[in-house]
Amino acid sequence: MSHTLLLATRNKGKIEEFRRILDAVAPGVINLVGLDQFQDLHDVIEDGATFEENALKKAREMSLATGLPAIADDSGLCIDYLNGDPGIFSARWAGTHGDDAANTQKVLDQLRDVPDEARGAHFTCVAALYLPDGRSHCEEAHFFGSILRAPVGDNGFGYDPIFSPHGLSESSAQMSAAAKDAISHRGKSLRAIAPHVINLLKSLG
Ligand code: IMP
Repeated sequence: MSHTLLLATRNKGKIEEFRRILDAVAPGVINLVGLDQFQDLHDVIEDGATFEENALKKAREMSLATGLPAIADDSGLCIDYLNGDPGIFSARWAGTHGDDAANTQKVLDQLRDVPDEARGAHFTCVAALYLPDGRSHCEEAHFFGSILRAPVGDNGFGYDPIFSPHGLSESSAQMSAAAKDAISHRGKSLRAIAPHVINLLKSLG
């Protein structure tokens, strides 16, 4: 039996990536749809205090609005020197939501005088599943590295040009999408939640 699952995003790349992950775990079991399949859905206000609260809130509200099981993720960059900031505020660190260039420049300015050995950071992602019957499951994953002194690379998005993954000599904006997915916070949390999604949906009959 096939189950329909909503991935609470309009990003086609995220939908295709998660579809590949689910198909690798259980081919043909899940019919994954995105928010673009629905009209008049409200914007979820991300006012949680943690990545998990925000991810779960997005999944719960979109599940209740559509009547479908829903998956959502929430992610951000946590910098050791800034005690974990920008964290849940990553998308609007410089004030305007989604202004990647300004956010990146603000971080570079904040770390201007910080020596190489104190520039550690990690991305965090929480993937959350919510079922209309109230059951939920979350998986958190990390991607460790350090903050560069200037942007490098054109791939990816957000803070990728100033993030150098541990053990690599390039920024995450110089990696291919497939290479980044294999080790990234988002790839890891989605691969971790996939078997739970399959089991919980199968339990619905
Ligand atoms: P959201 O999870 O889509 O709300 O993303 C939060 C913000 O965290 C993004 O706007 C980026 O600024 C940052 N971020 C999350 N994941 C990544 C990543 O893989 N690369 C670069 N920036 C990221």
